[in-house]
Amino acid sequence: MATARIETSQHFYLDRRPVLVDSVLPRDNLRIMTTVGHSLTGLSIAVLTLPRGKTLLWYLVVGHFFVFFANVPDFPLSGWGHSSYHISHSIFLTALLASLLAVLLLLPRFSEQVGRKVVIAWTATWFSHMLLDSMYNHGQGIGIFWPFSDAHLTLPLPWFETLTWPPKSDHNLRVFLIELSVYGALLAVCLFVRSRRKSRIITNSSEVHHQ
Ligand SMILES: [Zn+2]
Repeated sequence: MATARIETSQHFYLDRRPVLVDSVLPRDNLRIMTTVGHSLTGLSIAVLTLPRGKTLLWYLVVGHFFVFFANVPDFPLSGWGHSSYHISHSIFLTALLASLLAVLLLLPRFSEQVGRKVVIAWTATWFSHMLLDSMYNHGQGIGIFWPFSDAHLTLPLPWFETLTWPPKSDHNLRVFLIELSVYGALLAVCLFVRSRRKSRIITNSSEVHHQ
């Protein structure tokens, strides 16, 4: 069994870089973080950037897109996702695709209903994915400069681990709980910051009324 793993890893490394192929993912190590960390980070950015005074439906629809864009680089599509760490995680390709979002602003209804600030926040959420992935302790980094450079961004933190096979294991539960704790705390801080901003706005407006 151990020999099989070594053989598998030899297939997936070229010049010390991970070269993963869709149809034969290494089953001993999925090498991805869960969607929890990305989704909570997307929601944190939403909490900090979304305007006030919209309807619940508006927040639900727009908020879902923060989760969507936070996870786009990992979508299980052929030639995409973690089977191709350098393509879907390239800042150049991301910038190109995200710029298409800006085209939507040419539509008057979209511009009015969604607006430029939300599109910028969606784009920031999309880019946050690469930063978060680079912090995982497999240390292989992310090929963010594809196709112009092979350089990999690697900012590993010891407590961030990737998932392993099989899915149900103590290790994966620990990975899930660590992400939930760290990024849940981040979301809580962002909610606190937003609530402080709101109380400051209310205080300022009541002072204006008293003058
Ligand atoms: Zn990823």
